[in-house]
Amino acid sequence: MSKITQFSTIGALMAGHFRGEAPLSAFCSHRAFGLGCSAEISGELTIQDGKVHEATAGEALHCLSAETEIPFVQVTEFTPQQERAVSSVTHENAQEQLSRFIRPDNIFLAVSISGKFEHLVLRRPHRADDGSRSVDQVASAQQVDRHEAIEGRLIGFWTPELFGRISVPGFHFHFLDVKSTISGHVLEFSAQNAVLSFEEKTTIEIVNPSSMSFKALDIDVDALDEMIYRIEK
Ligand SMILES: [Zn+2]
Repeated sequence: MSKITQFSTIGALMAGHFRGEAPLSAFCSHRAFGLGCSAEISGELTIQDGKVHEATAGEALHCLSAETEIPFVQVTEFTPQQERAVSSVTHENAQEQLSRFIRPDNIFLAVSISGKFEHLVLRRPHRADDGSRSVDQVASAQQVDRHEAIEGRLIGFWTPELFGRISVPGFHFHFLDVKSTISGHVLEFSAQNAVLSFEEKTTIEIVNPSSMSFKALDIDVDALDEMIYRIEK
């Protein structure tokens, strides 16, 4: 079983530390599966088979090169331990559906839900023209798109509440369609018939940023929890 490896934390990202600082190549093998965001939160990253797709509002989906420096990424090598056919799965009942097969409360899981989605809502940020915007400015200016009858895969993780400042607590999904043309952070979904796959991950390795600007970052931990829920959930 491979571990989850990540650069930085959702907490640091939401506290405003989103400059590109670590190359993708340090984290993404040719089997990498996961998600992240690009420098200055210019795009949502969805990672499958080592390919890093950047979804940015107003731009065609494209792949980032291995040298690209990013502020946050969370990846693993996904070897499903269970693959289950599920019906009528939605963002609202996904936890309940997962809980039929494994109790997720205190564990990390890599998770994928694949199939044809009758309804899917994705979010993409706009590219930063300079480095001066705040997380709130990025969040309020994002583009939200609704899709119907789209085939593809939700790629992401389940994080226990206990670790909710390291990674988004509960599910965090990004989407990639079968043609690799549509992607983004998942806000809503529903699929009549889908395959839910997951793998328990007992080890998580976090590479903390080491830059001077990170060391100087002031983090209001109480405000942070509220922000993670408001922006990432
Ligand atoms: Zn996301």
